[in-house]
Amino acid sequence: MKIECMVLGAVATNCYFVINEETKETIVIDPADRADVILKKAAEEGLTLKAVFLTHGHGDHIMAVPELREKTGIPVYACRAEEELLADPGQNLSTGLFGKPLSLKADVLTEDGQELTAAGMKFRVLSTPGHTPGGCCYYSEEEGVLFSGDTLFCGSVGRTDFPGGSMGTLVRSISEKLMPLPDETKVYPGHQEETAIGDERRWNPFIRN
Ligand SMILES: [Zn+2]
Repeated sequence: MKIECMVLGAVATNCYFVINEETKETIVIDPADRADVILKKAAEEGLTLKAVFLTHGHGDHIMAVPELREKTGIPVYACRAEEELLADPGQNLSTGLFGKPLSLKADVLTEDGQELTAAGMKFRVLSTPGHTPGGCCYYSEEEGVLFSGDTLFCGSVGRTDFPGGSMGTLVRSISEKLMPLPDETKVYPGHQEETAIGDERRWNPFIRN
C-alpha cells in the first residue's frame, strides 16, 4: 500500500490516494474538490480508481464526488448514519460554506466494524460520531494505518459546532474506537499533518485523562 496526499479545496482538505502497489488500483479518500486535478494525477501515474471512501459528509470533503462518479462510475462508500447529512446541503455545509448546494447518495452504506475490500486492500470501518453523526475512520490492521477524517487531528480533534456535532460523543468515539489501536498506528487526518496513535494518546489535550 502506498499513500499519497493532495491538499485540495477552499479549506485545505487532505485527499488521499491509497494505491495498491501491485496493481495500481486506487481508493480515493475524501475527494474534496477539483475532480479534474484528481483525474489528471490518476492518468499521469497510471492509477485505476476503484472506489471513493468518505470519512464524513461535509462539503469540504465531497465536492469532487459528482464529477468523479460521472467520469469513472466508481462506487462511493459512507456510513449509513451519515445518509441524512450527505443528502442535505444545509447540514453538509455545501451551501453555507461553499455556495454550491450538493446533495449526495452513497452507493455503499457501511456499518460500524464492517470489513471492506476495495482495490484489493482490506479496511475496517470504525464508526466515530461526534464531528458529524455518521463520521467514520478507515483502519488497515495489516498496514497499521488509520484514515481519521475530521475525528482526530495531530494534537487536536474535529470541531463540534456544526449541525449534529457533539464534543462528548466525539471524545467517547476517540477513546473507545481509536485509542485501543496500537501506538505505532499511523494516522492520516482530514486536515494538516500526519500523526500516530501513541503520540495522540500521550499529548492530545482533548483525550488525556
Ligand atoms: Zn468536517
